[in-house]
Amino acid sequence: MYPDDTSRSHALYERALSVLPGGNSRNSVYFPPYPVYVDRAEGCRIWDADGVERIDCINNYSALIHGHCHPRIVAALREQAGKLLSVALPTEAEIRLAELVTERMPAVEQVRFANSGTEAVMIAVMAARAATGRNKIAKIEGAYHGSYDAMSVSVYPTPDLWGADDSPEGVAPPGVYESARANTIILPANNVAAGRAILRRHGDDLAGVIIDPLCKNLGFLQMDDEFLKMLREETTALGAKLIFDEVYSFRMGYNGAQGELGVLPDITAMGKVIGGGLPIGAIGASRALMEELFDPRGRAKMSHGGTFNANPMTMVAGAIAMELYDRAAHDRLAALGERLRIGLRELFRLTGRAGTVTGAASMVGLFHTDAPLTDYRSAVRAMINDPSLGQRTESFFRHMLNNGVYMASPGFMVLSTAMTEADIDFILDKAEGALRALPAKAA
Ligand SMILES: *Cc1c(COP(=O)(O)O)cnc(C)c1O
Repeated sequence: MYPDDTSRSHALYERALSVLPGGNSRNSVYFPPYPVYVDRAEGCRIWDADGVERIDCINNYSALIHGHCHPRIVAALREQAGKLLSVALPTEAEIRLAELVTERMPAVEQVRFANSGTEAVMIAVMAARAATGRNKIAKIEGAYHGSYDAMSVSVYPTPDLWGADDSPEGVAPPGVYESARANTIILPANNVAAGRAILRRHGDDLAGVIIDPLCKNLGFLQMDDEFLKMLREETTALGAKLIFDEVYSFRMGYNGAQGELGVLPDITAMGKVIGGGLPIGAIGASRALMEELFDPRGRAKMSHGGTFNANPMTMVAGAIAMELYDRAAHDRLAALGERLRIGLRELFRLTGRAGTVTGAASMVGLFHTDAPLTDYRSAVRAMINDPSLGQRTESFFRHMLNNGVYMASPGFMVLSTAMTEADIDFILDKAEGALRALPAKAA
């Protein structure tokens, strides 16, 4: 049972606390009273330091689209490890992954590789500035785009600081340059009129707009057609770049989110899935823009380096992951996601518990409230108006953890092709127990 002060995970946590703040290297993997430490994994299952088996419904926040230790990826990495780990010259492996990524992303003719999604977003934002000679970048309130300075603005702003609903203030955590805060413009999600007015107000200084089209940090909230059309029109009219952060939303379709929506970006930031489980980031755009920005034969506007960019281990794992993630694999995985979403909605109804299920394809969001969640503020207000919402979320997560299902503690799941319908039904069975253990809605 979790938590357990006599467990090996707890002992590891205690040991970790003296050398790692909070006991690990990544805020998103901590949950109170202590996170479970993992020993090994295979397919869709992970085993913790105490030998407890769980189905992994996070898949390293989306990166592991084929689950853990896919035999073909492991075999290719073994071979590559004996051949070449990294080198200060280009390799065929990076051409192959670049071909696979550009083939399927409609707005990407060329790519440059980096080592994380944070880096990809940073380069994409700098590219918009370099290409336009302007400073300001607009982002959606509450959207997460990694740990880059300018993108850390208004990820978790609080009501005392966030300003008017139709004209949000940029709120920066400590450590962010005041100039980065001032040059990051905040848009309310899916508010066409407010968004248009804000963009026009900053028109002459606007380098670009960045969005996560299926906003992971807003419970996989999709940017709707009207809003996307407005962003495309305004950025074009103002001479600014539209950036899609597809680090997560790549999972939305075989051709990424940009293949599913009616609007194409100028610049795309990628990561996670395309690395096959190893660290990766990539920025992509049209050939003309990529050459203007990066081509060392010309007067490239950007100086782009990185010791481990396109390292052959990542390139090989990514290429096999992309080959395995063909249309059929995407469709099968999306159907598993739909089975889970439909099943969870049915369980909320059947058990009479408050709940909303969101997401698309292999991404599933789960909120223990009936309040409409339309943007960042509506989610925060739902928490404020319903003080027990946080407690229900934690109880559900804890129950799942104790019954063989590892999901993200705030309430979402990301699936892998290693799963079957039986695995989804197992998750649903455990979810029913977890819901029944929560208090019923007041009649
Ligand atoms: C994970 C994520 C990032 C950052 O990627 P890292 O590889 O963790 O640096 C950026 N944007 C979105 C939408 C993400 O989900």
